[in-house]
Amino acid sequence: MPKRKRKGAARGPAAEPKRQRSKKSQASLRKDGRYTSRANGAVGAAGVSAYREHSGGKRCWGTSSLEMAAYHDNVWGSPETSLEAIFESQTLQLMQCGLTWKCVFNKRAAFRHAFAGFDPFKVARFDAKQVEGLRENKGIIRNKTKINAVIENARRIIAMEEETGSGSFVRFLWQYSPESDDERLRVRSSPSGTHMRSTFDNKQYEKRTQSDAVHPTKTVCELSKALKAKGFKFMGPTVVLSFMQAIGLMNHHDHDCCVFEIDEEKYRQVKASLGSN
Ligand SMILES: [Zn+2]
Repeated sequence: MPKRKRKGAARGPAAEPKRQRSKKSQASLRKDGRYTSRANGAVGAAGVSAYREHSGGKRCWGTSSLEMAAYHDNVWGSPETSLEAIFESQTLQLMQCGLTWKCVFNKRAAFRHAFAGFDPFKVARFDAKQVEGLRENKGIIRNKTKINAVIENARRIIAMEEETGSGSFVRFLWQYSPESDDERLRVRSSPSGTHMRSTFDNKQYEKRTQSDAVHPTKTVCELSKALKAKGFKFMGPTVVLSFMQAIGLMNHHDHDCCVFEIDEEKYRQVKASLGSN
């Protein structure tokens, strides 16, 4: 959730020209765990540093800690097709509603343990005793409505998988990746980053969150409506926007962020693999 809102968020203009990377640099980037460490959202300092070095040290948010930087580099905005990872992201974004991202972020390990490794097939079968256990679990956010929403969402996912086959939920979500780059990308910074720095002072720039200056778009509202129609809970436009950003249906890294081009490349791979290109 944005801590500050900026009116007239910069959106729309065509993307900046893509930087060309050599095959050598692409290969080296792939060796540091970028595509393999989403499950725990963390890599060592060496992995984080590799991206900063590649981009000249620029990271568009997540500078408050090494853990947050690793999440920024390896998870947030990385196009995702794993059902468990997507269910995890949906759950964390839902849990964040009304709270700070840091609060939820620091409880990720407890959430993962409490929700059976984010296996929706297991969560969908939680019984009343297990729900009561969640309500007594001090490591997580114990809001009854949110806990019930997570379990109901798991059941909706499984219903889709059983009705229309394995992978249905993932394919359904990816139908809502905006076709227009004007909507899919967030144009916020000049190559030098001066645009952002002209609207935030340096202190604000360092503290801004991943959702700053972005508001639900037409496609976000359409997905929110579609999820609600299927029985999903807690899927209002604001939560759905954060969900779409997190799983890479949109690439809302700044264009000069260290992972922008990496996520663009993975986006093209995912779209091709899903037969949408
Ligand atoms: Zn970024």
